[in-house]
Amino acid sequence: MTKYARYEAHGEVAYGIVEGDTVKQITAAPYEDYQVTDHTHPLSDVKVLAPVIPSKIVAIGLNYKSHLGDRTPPSVPEPFMKTTSTVVGQGDDIVIPREAIEEGVKVQPEAELSLVIGKKAKRVNQADVLDYVLGYTCGNDVSARDWQQNDLQWARAKSSDTFAPIGPFIVSGLDPSALRLVCRINGEVAQDQFTSDLLYDVPRIIEFVTQTITLNPGDVVMTGTPGAPGDIHDGDVVEVEIAEIGTLSNPVKAEA
Ligand code: MG
Repeated sequence: MTKYARYEAHGEVAYGIVEGDTVKQITAAPYEDYQVTDHTHPLSDVKVLAPVIPSKIVAIGLNYKSHLGDRTPPSVPEPFMKTTSTVVGQGDDIVIPREAIEEGVKVQPEAELSLVIGKKAKRVNQADVLDYVLGYTCGNDVSARDWQQNDLQWARAKSSDTFAPIGPFIVSGLDPSALRLVCRINGEVAQDQFTSDLLYDVPRIIEFVTQTITLNPGDVVMTGTPGAPGDIHDGDVVEVEIAEIGTLSNPVKAEA
């Protein structure tokens, strides 16, 4: 199990390996050929950034029975895209667009087990999928519900700026079917479910997505959200926790 971070120290952005309370710099992204340096920082001295800059984010909708309500489960995994401009990291603001506030649009977090691709993946069989996964991180598929329901496409509902917090770290070697996913809003539990309840598991998701879409090293796949998360508003704090990875925490701000 290796825990990777992306961080800023002394004005420079680097990748590193987290060991206890320190981070040790590596010479390239964790999905590239890297060497471990002897350059270390206390984690408390660096700004932890989104752990990866993906070329795309593929998210899966309707992938927990507890989130379906009275909707029929999809007959195949149900992917949609989030733009790369949605990505923010640990401690960064989730910004609710001015128009969403003016229109009274409900905005909700979606805690999701998210995976980061380690090598180029096209038409990967389920049995081989885990060889293509670098590791796992916490993701928040922030969603503007009324736009999701009323717009023809989900572009602004799912891809408004800052609508994809990820982090704090990427952890390799986890069993993606045995993780407990918890979301808290202002410390109150809003979602709490095991990833064993995913309707389509990680191997099936990646097999299906890569039939038609090449996943590149660093790309992020969000696997879906359980239950019915509550609404978030200016001043709230949202946490997504997977114990083996850490707690991704983001304040919520109304756009000025
Ligand atoms: Mg989602």
